[in-house]
Amino acid sequence: QGSIRFSKANIVYPNGVVGMKDLDLEIKPGEFVVVVGSSGAGKSTLLRAVNGLNKLTSGRVEVNGRQVPSQDGRELRELRKQIGMIFQDFRLVKRLSVMSNVLMGRLGHVPGWRTLLNLWPAADREIAMRALERVGIPDKAWVKASDLSGGQQQRVGIARALAQEPAIILADEPVASLDPVTTHQVMQDLVRINRELGITTLVNLHFLDLAREYGQRIIGLRFGELVYDGSADTVTDRD
Ligand code: ADP
Ligand code: ADP
Repeated sequence: QGSIRFSKANIVYPNGVVGMKDLDLEIKPGEFVVVVGSSGAGKSTLLRAVNGLNKLTSGRVEVNGRQVPSQDGRELRELRKQIGMIFQDFRLVKRLSVMSNVLMGRLGHVPGWRTLLNLWPAADREIAMRALERVGIPDKAWVKASDLSGGQQQRVGIARALAQEPAIILADEPVASLDPVTTHQVMQDLVRINRELGITTLVNLHFLDLAREYGQRIIGLRFGELVYDGSADTVTDRD
């Protein structure tokens, strides 16, 4: 659970832009990987290929040893349930409570009043609450999402992903909208959660310094091509 493998994978967009070039990459269950590269290097393309949002032009991508379906449908929906997504712009429903947002990760829709009032068996709400505890904001469960700071909103985004009980977390520039202090807090949260729960985690970043500080393994991309794959110690600007 939580493995990812690309083999000779290519993505050419309809306008001819190469988003991914001959990618061979193996990520083992539980790894914490930072994908680094300047804007347009292909970081989002890579992440979106893992959950089938981007289809390969050729080659293979496998998750948990099974090929990511090339057709939308039930199989792909099942896969996506196992993959928690975290976004630069948080993508919360701001008029709703934190609890509603986190439950949406689990239920796949806005929870109704019975779920919120805990009139269903309490399992989902308990899992949502534990996810909020894990990111340190259980006291915010009934606050409206729009009343939170950016860092807190991103923690809700992380909790929403955790409430899916995912095998993989994909974070696409999760700190790009945050101030420096909050940036480090959120990166530390992601590293700690990876260590505690062993969820395979891919984080896209465009700053090499951040990647060096937090990436146990760093993957460098340029023009859709893998130009570096290794530890934080040896990576340089030229890679
Ligand atoms: P990054 O996340 O590193 O900024 P992207 O994966 O978003 O890079 O983009 C890689 C390249 O593919 C860029 O040149 C970008 O303009 C192009 N691209 C991304 N998505 C599309 C798309 N849907 N259609 C056409 N070109 C795209
Ligand atoms: P509501 O009835 O309040 O609108 P939801 O829309 O959140 O509840 O629930 C949709 C379906 O999901 C329900 O019909 C129920 O079968 C299931 N469900 C919701 N919450 C739980 C729960 N805590 N445990 C088990 N099943 C649940």
